[in-house]
Amino acid sequence: TTQHSRDYWEKLLAGLRLEGRHFIDGDYRLPLSGETFTRIRPMDGRSGGVLSRGNAADIDAAVAAARAAFASGIWRQKEPGEKKKIMLRWADLIRAHGEELALLETIDVGKPVMASLNVDVRLCADGIQYYAEMIDKMYDEIAPTGPKARALVRKVPLGVVGVITPWNYPMIIDAWKVGPAIAAGNSVVLKPAEQSSLSALRLAALGLEAGLPAGVLNVVTGYGEETGKPLSLHMDVDMIAFTGSTEVGKLIMGYAAQSNVKRVALELGGKSPLVVFEDADLDAAASAVAWGCFYNSGETCHASTRLIVQRSVQDRLIEKIREVTDREIALKHPLDPSAQIGAMIEEAHLEKVLGMIAAGEREGARRVFGAEQVLSETGGYYVSPGVFVDVSNDMSLARQEIFGPVLAAIAFDTEEEALRLANDTIYGLAGAVFTTDMDRAHRFSERLHAGTVWINTYDMSNFATPFGGFKQSGFGRDRSVHAIDKYCDYKTIWQQFA
Ligand code: NAD
Repeated sequence: TTQHSRDYWEKLLAGLRLEGRHFIDGDYRLPLSGETFTRIRPMDGRSGGVLSRGNAADIDAAVAAARAAFASGIWRQKEPGEKKKIMLRWADLIRAHGEELALLETIDVGKPVMASLNVDVRLCADGIQYYAEMIDKMYDEIAPTGPKARALVRKVPLGVVGVITPWNYPMIIDAWKVGPAIAAGNSVVLKPAEQSSLSALRLAALGLEAGLPAGVLNVVTGYGEETGKPLSLHMDVDMIAFTGSTEVGKLIMGYAAQSNVKRVALELGGKSPLVVFEDADLDAAASAVAWGCFYNSGETCHASTRLIVQRSVQDRLIEKIREVTDREIALKHPLDPSAQIGAMIEEAHLEKVLGMIAAGEREGARRVFGAEQVLSETGGYYVSPGVFVDVSNDMSLARQEIFGPVLAAIAFDTEEEALRLANDTIYGLAGAVFTTDMDRAHRFSERLHAGTVWINTYDMSNFATPFGGFKQSGFGRDRSVHAIDKYCDYKTIWQQFA
């Protein structure tokens, strides 16, 4: 893509109109309470727009619109080929409005606008396209019965799906859930994180423009307690698809139990191990660790935050990680086209990350470089990538999800020990092993308990591969043809013949 100058993005930003109303039943709607909140943009601490502070009444209105659209059959009963065309048009519109969407994402999240454009917008459009293409390729089944009967096994949509998303990759995660939910014929009420609502509102409007009937995709903005909770407790919502913290994921399960036994799918936190043996290609490992841990300022659920490294190569590897970080991972103002990482999501999160770093040092971890607040003169919230050694797996740096650019290096001597350390976590989202011994790579990857295991690489994926976690990283998978199953139910229709 074109490499626009910072000036270009500044001008585009100055001319941008930020929508702050909910999007319900195909139209923008003011919050019923009249209440709003101001988003502070992390790149410079200035206003990033005024948004509707939704509450249970707004959620009721959105769920009613979603239910009416579902009940009417206006979407789910459309010809599959027609539905596909509408969703493909939607993906095209997302691409056509790529620069605007990238800027919205950068205003909210503080990530470099070039990353927003080349990664977030692209993967969002690709996600919508992937599920569009599935629509006219899904068959129902006929079960084996005797000749006197015919049993159809139909895959049917659930009805109204609530989608609750986090702030780190808003547009991508929206597409991962909204794409298959709508492709399966459901209606959706999307509750984006209060820190990152702008791209969701724009995506919904583009959906309508592409031909999604009103009410099929609704967006209610606001705080978790005030909007996400009533959505999860709602008696007329059939499922909640959630990505966020393990803590809130547990609450969502409780809300489902307290209300109508709605289905839930949870993509939660991680503390992913990257294991490096002494026979590994250390240059490849260093690059994988640095990008795996520091990309998006470490605000990535599957970030490689625990480096489990064979003692004999630890010093050499850490030195190489420092070189890759200095050379490649430029921390700059997000509108600077050469920035590779930008700001942290908000001031409170910056404080939390700095607090965790301080706690790690008190527990005895030794800072090799970085992990400091920088660029504070911009008014924004920036933390430099940093590495800690002398970490043991029971220290807070190794146990808690920091969600910042902080790597904890833990040394090991034997393969058994490496495996035990890698699996000694409440999470199971992702992990990696670096070794040139292919027998060991195979052995280790089979025994590493995580939803995704990479061998001699990190963070590679495409839409065909399921993504999600084991253990307290949640259940249910995003991406791939399998992701659509959780937005459907099986219905048996048995017909008896004479
Ligand atoms: P969070 O759990 O604080 O918030 C996520 C969403 O839940 C937000 O929309 C929030 O408003 C809402 N929410 C908060 N309280 C709620 C409540 N009581 N009821 C209903 N909804 C509520 O998470 P976050 O800080 O936005 O995101 C960071 C977390 O997300 C990290 O733990 C990260 O690992 C996780 N994450 C996981 C994946 C994955 O695929 N596994 C991907 C990205 C992020």
